Amino acid sequence: MAYLATPTATSEIIRKYNFHFQKKFGQNFLIDANILEKIIRTAEITKEDCVIEIGPGIGTMTQYLAEHAREVVAVEIDRNLIPILQDTLSEYNNVTIVNEDILKIDITGIADEKNGGRPVKIVANLPYYITTPIIMGLFESNVPLSSITIMVQKEVADRMQVGPGTKDYGALSLAVQYYAKPEVIMNVPPACFMPKPGVGSSVVRLTRFTKPPVNVVDEKKFFTIIRAAFNQRRKTLINALVNSSAIVGSDGKNKKVTRDEVSVILEKMGLSQTIRGEALTLEEFAKFSNLF
Ligand code: SAM
Repeated sequence: MAYLATPTATSEIIRKYNFHFQKKFGQNFLIDANILEKIIRTAEITKEDCVIEIGPGIGTMTQYLAEHAREVVAVEIDRNLIPILQDTLSEYNNVTIVNEDILKIDITGIADEKNGGRPVKIVANLPYYITTPIIMGLFESNVPLSSITIMVQKEVADRMQVGPGTKDYGALSLAVQYYAKPEVIMNVPPACFMPKPGVGSSVVRLTRFTKPPVNVVDEKKFFTIIRAAFNQRRKTLINALVNSSAIVGSDGKNKKVTRDEVSVILEKMGLSQTIRGEALTLEEFAKFSNLF
């Protein structure tokens, strides 16, 4: 099977199988070999690696992964793509195709089975409609992984890198920076995909920290506070938290935040009573949640 990363080869497969792109699955297939080579180099794939690919599509990136990695598990939700993948990847004996929803599958189980529980690498041209839940799910469920190298919408890539004082700063920035070192590797124009997406894209590498850069006593509480703070980002932190639904109390039970409680913590931290959540750094959110 020839490489699929050209407009001609991709069109041929689409025609051969009378495949119809499904917008609801975020299907924009890569047709540029240079971008794929750059992704493989960025992910530093070697013959030691077990790679999980999210959304292989017709197998364009999977071909490259199969050639560089020891083992590839490709998880694709669209069952119409499965016979195509079985054809385009037939010459590789190190690829397992799984017809599942990545948000429902047990990735830790896959890492256990295929890689003896050692860290896997995640590589994907992500379906943009579920970028955030995929990334959060991978981190929060503690899947053993060393890095995530992904194509995302450019705007989302920008959000991963920024700190307080920018409009892009939010819950995703804090979660990514708590778990990993984010690097935007390159921007990719719509012309590199078929069909062309309506937005610009970027390749990002997230290298998982072995230990988070800040000390957080209760991660669940930490992220509940962050989500509540950014749900109403134009409100003061006090109002955003008091208006939010319950957060986990120190006794492990759900308990509603009181104005006084937040006020005392802000005072202890030397922060203004009218500060907004969007002004707090990762370190300050960590301290703040530890003081609850
Ligand atoms: N990897 C291919 C490429 O680069 O050409 C396709 C990338 S395309 C942007 C995203 C792929 O993710 C599609 O094949 C789509 O069907 C698949 N997908 C969408 N939602 C998914 C989900 N929840 N679980 C697994 N795959 C999904």
